[in-house]
Amino acid sequence: METLLLDAKNKGATETAANILKNGGLVAIPTETVYGLAANAFDASACANIFKAKGRPGDNPLIVHICNMEMLSEIVSEVPEKAKLLAEKFWPGPLTMIMKKSENIPDVTSANLPSVAVRFPAHPVAKEIIEKAGLPLAAPSANLSGSPSPTTFEHCVHDLMGRVDGIIDGGACEVGVESTIISFVGEKPVLLRPGYVTLEQLRETIGEVEVSHAVLEKLEEGEKVLSPGMKYKHYAPKAQVTLIKASSEDYVKYVNEHSGEGVFALCFDEEAEKLSVSTVCYGSEFSDAQQAEHIFEALRRIDESGAERVYAHSPKVSGIGLAVYNRLIRAAGFDVIEL
Ligand code: AMP
Ligand code: MG
Repeated sequence: METLLLDAKNKGATETAANILKNGGLVAIPTETVYGLAANAFDASACANIFKAKGRPGDNPLIVHICNMEMLSEIVSEVPEKAKLLAEKFWPGPLTMIMKKSENIPDVTSANLPSVAVRFPAHPVAKEIIEKAGLPLAAPSANLSGSPSPTTFEHCVHDLMGRVDGIIDGGACEVGVESTIISFVGEKPVLLRPGYVTLEQLRETIGEVEVSHAVLEKLEEGEKVLSPGMKYKHYAPKAQVTLIKASSEDYVKYVNEHSGEGVFALCFDEEAEKLSVSTVCYGSEFSDAQQAEHIFEALRRIDESGAERVYAHSPKVSGIGLAVYNRLIRAAGFDVIEL
């Protein structure tokens, strides 16, 4: 299929994207978290095409993106009070909330679950496209299933050229990791995926929030999960990755002792000059926001470099660092060394 490449800076580009979406097509669009592959959330066949284009397993539900609170009432059957509090504080923004779905949402969109994931993105281009389409848009990350989420237009072109109707360039994503996901379908709110909106911020706003064990731990074979996306191998580079939990000093020492051909360090900016192996940096040790912004791009660079063995320095496991850690342990296939 021919893929139309658009630039959001050009007049009429968001209108063209919206028209493709209204006609049942697929367009990769920028959001503040990562690029999303969008389709009309009410159109079962358009949503089915998202799964085909990404090679996404059919039991991994899509996040539905809205641009106002009226749209929310069309896609969920009720909004819990705590969800309202979070919406007031963090929407528009990088927070996804799971609620009971309304009958307007086709089964393919929610992967046959009785619930639906909803987000109100803050990115001006995403907002404009949803407004112009006048429809809620189902949009998972715009990568091929299994590869790192795309944070630039070029990443989307690399993964989806020829597989979707359009890709619109809105520059690099500022947040860099996918949205925080909190579920309101059980008795207590549960964090399913950490992101830029932190666990600490959620607890400050609504009190108790449980953390799904899939956030930090490997799932058992065949285990049933609340967030189906968590069970798939994600973001994994071709190289064998080990995550190292250690001080900067101990990390540098360990990696230098294990240097060799094809060995790479996925490290903080401050460590590069002290390492005797090839390095890919993913931000300053002192900025978890920067680490989130660059982690996926760094994982893609590792792949391009032809690395065979990667020692990744673990971020701290709190604040936005929890989100970075959650993505990195998956990239490492849960191979962690604590020094
Ligand atoms: P992606 O947009 O590619 O980051 O993937 C969407 C994520 O949202 C996946 O991890 C899904 O498992 C999760 N998700 C979407 N809808 C639901 C739902 N109804 N219940 C639980 N998790 C969901
Ligand atoms: Mg994804």
